[in-house]
Amino acid sequence: MHRDTRILEAGYPRPSSPGAFVPPVQFASTFATPGDPAQYAHTYGRFHNPTWTAWETALGVIDEGHAVSFASGMAATAALFGVVLQPGDVVVLPSDAYYSTRIVAANWLAKIGIITRLAPTRDDAQLGALEGARLLVIETPSNPQLDVCDIARLAQAAHAQGALVAVDNTTATGYLQQPLVLGADFVVASDTKALTGHSDLVLGHVTAAREEHASALRAWRTQQGAIPGPMETWLAHRSLATLSLRLTRQCASALELAKLLSANEGVEAVLYPGLASHPGHALAARQMRAFGPVVSFDLGTRPRAEAFLGALTLVREATSFGGVHSTAERRARWGGDAISDGFIRFSAGCEAVEDLLEDAKRGLAAL
Ligand code: PLP
Repeated sequence: MHRDTRILEAGYPRPSSPGAFVPPVQFASTFATPGDPAQYAHTYGRFHNPTWTAWETALGVIDEGHAVSFASGMAATAALFGVVLQPGDVVVLPSDAYYSTRIVAANWLAKIGIITRLAPTRDDAQLGALEGARLLVIETPSNPQLDVCDIARLAQAAHAQGALVAVDNTTATGYLQQPLVLGADFVVASDTKALTGHSDLVLGHVTAAREEHASALRAWRTQQGAIPGPMETWLAHRSLATLSLRLTRQCASALELAKLLSANEGVEAVLYPGLASHPGHALAARQMRAFGPVVSFDLGTRPRAEAFLGALTLVREATSFGGVHSTAERRARWGGDAISDGFIRFSAGCEAVEDLLEDAKRGLAAL
């Protein structure tokens, strides 16, 4: 079957099974377990839940590995670090990684003697920081600057040095990019974004290429308690039915938006891997199915960025990205990234592209 169909069916009963197509959400903190608990698949709500399992089955189909769901993207990242790293180990992070990932390394990993090395995503610069590393974390396209690096090349070099490789796949999603197929050991992602896409839940996951790693991640989740809620995993699973439709529309609209912005003299730079002018365009075209819903661009100064955002009537000014409703924000209002005060991260939703472009034109006219 085509991959889009397999994703639509993943984790659900087979079409020939009688009964509800979509199993109901199971809310349970505890399960009746007379006698020896080892004979039961489900015992206690921190250990397992059938609704998580259905969602994880679907994630496994998307990423082609063994998926473990967590309460948020950051809970997933913390689990990855907790399972892989020991005091004295070196972890290589992108210097342009998602801000909170770098904060976790600086505030928490450092405290237990784990050394962080930073190198940029662009030009595969992390290749120069691999010596003696235990874990390489890649983020491509990086958030929010949308630089791209070569997953297969970096994974091969890291493995040659004895390091494991994890790819933060949040911006692309497993629909657009499959890091395990390209040689990585782990996918880590915030499912709060485009994968679930409705701006109504917070979730994350790690998918491991090897079952032994997935088993360690499950043990971490059980012992540390970073568990997802049954309702969130049910909603997330439900949203996968439209994953291919949503992302096809969103990527097409993002490209149109990037072209519109590039043609405007008031925009200093447009960062979108789908544009031929992007330094990572050829590579992104090779390793991604499409270029994602996020377009970043620079309007130079804070007043200009605020004028743009203030003139929008359809697009919501909000953080996060990847949802069916378009959002935009002046990213520097949060701090932590090496970007200008006029840098905007724009996430294209599922509105009719004409309306989206009309709104962007309203913003540009206010500059
Ligand atoms: N990784 C990336 C690239 C992100 O953009 C985010 C959130 O914005 C995260 C990880 C963390 O995810 P969450 O907010 O679900 O904890």
